[in-house]
Amino acid sequence: MKDDVYNAFVLVPLYIGMFYREDVHIHGCVSKRLYKNVMNYIQRILCDFSDDLSRVDVHVDGFKVADGKPEIIGAGLSCGVDSLSTLYDRFVKEDDPDYRVNGLFFFNTGWHGDYYDEHTMKLCMEIYNINKPAADELGLPLCMVDSNIHAFIYKVYPLGKAVRHMGYLVNYSCVLGLQKGVKKYYVASGRSYEAIKLYSQSAHDHDLSGFTDSYFVPLVRTEKIELIIDGCQYERTQKTERISDWDIARKYLSPCDAVLGKPEGLHNCSKCYKCLRTLIAIEALGKLEDFFSVFDLDTYRKQSFMNKCDVVLKRNSEAHQHDDYNFCIKHGLKLPSPFQASMYFLSRWLWYRGLALPKKILRKIIGDKFYDAIKHTLKR
Ligand SMILES: [Zn+2]
Repeated sequence: MKDDVYNAFVLVPLYIGMFYREDVHIHGCVSKRLYKNVMNYIQRILCDFSDDLSRVDVHVDGFKVADGKPEIIGAGLSCGVDSLSTLYDRFVKEDDPDYRVNGLFFFNTGWHGDYYDEHTMKLCMEIYNINKPAADELGLPLCMVDSNIHAFIYKVYPLGKAVRHMGYLVNYSCVLGLQKGVKKYYVASGRSYEAIKLYSQSAHDHDLSGFTDSYFVPLVRTEKIELIIDGCQYERTQKTERISDWDIARKYLSPCDAVLGKPEGLHNCSKCYKCLRTLIAIEALGKLEDFFSVFDLDTYRKQSFMNKCDVVLKRNSEAHQHDDYNFCIKHGLKLPSPFQASMYFLSRWLWYRGLALPKKILRKIIGDKFYDAIKHTLKR
């Protein structure tokens, strides 16, 4: 429409244009601030992120500031650790009305599957329905934003890669689409400033958020709406600790990535990567039993030794394991030694090939306790 400002239609066409090395023409007006950031900074960051991308020209019909007097200070709600940590700080602990969250959002933008897959909307609504009671208990409105943007982004990359490369841009674009109502929007980051600094190369051409969250998100802004990156000031384990006594977290925490295989009545499978990451920190805090209503603790205990071995072996090479390891050490949680962890994975490798080490030798090398832990996990 003639009066609209097309800020929501800048980032995704930009990425696709950069991928296909085609200039972009937006047939409408956009924010001058957003346009300048795209031309001067954002394209440089995207080129650093992925070798698939090249700089392009972006043509617009003109510049305009969106109408309206936005009043909403928004944040996404997923009930994961990052999301709840942001809400805890920016809603529960924040008393400045200019910065306190007063509205929550849930986006259907492709994170739950392909647009043309009939299960995508079903899964999306299931997750929305998990989050809605938490929003109700907090006394905040939860607005679902439905879109068909994921009908397009999968034409560039397959599902998983499209989500990691463009899914964040889609979410930011959805926020910009709310520019007449939203004036600030907190983006809950999954990585700390330090982790982005040290481990961004492991996210290169893989995970736009892990590569660049801390300095990319602040560039996504117009004269009317500001995206604020929140959570980079903490390690993930620190966030878990901060929310671990919050009744909302104990009742609704849902970091789980698993689509299937969740125990009846629980929101978390308790054995996927995200669940294990969350639970090892809760275990280090000595608060596992406080989260019995959202996790299957028996399932976790069967997986925890393997996860601890993984944390020990990757503590110097992967951001998440580095964080988990330091947190466990700080809180005195017993971890296997690097040798024991190596033996564990060697034993697994041999076991699955029908070449188990003789019991007596293994017991002698790693000790009775760790031998029993290995035996337990391998027998499942
Ligand atoms: Zn899980």
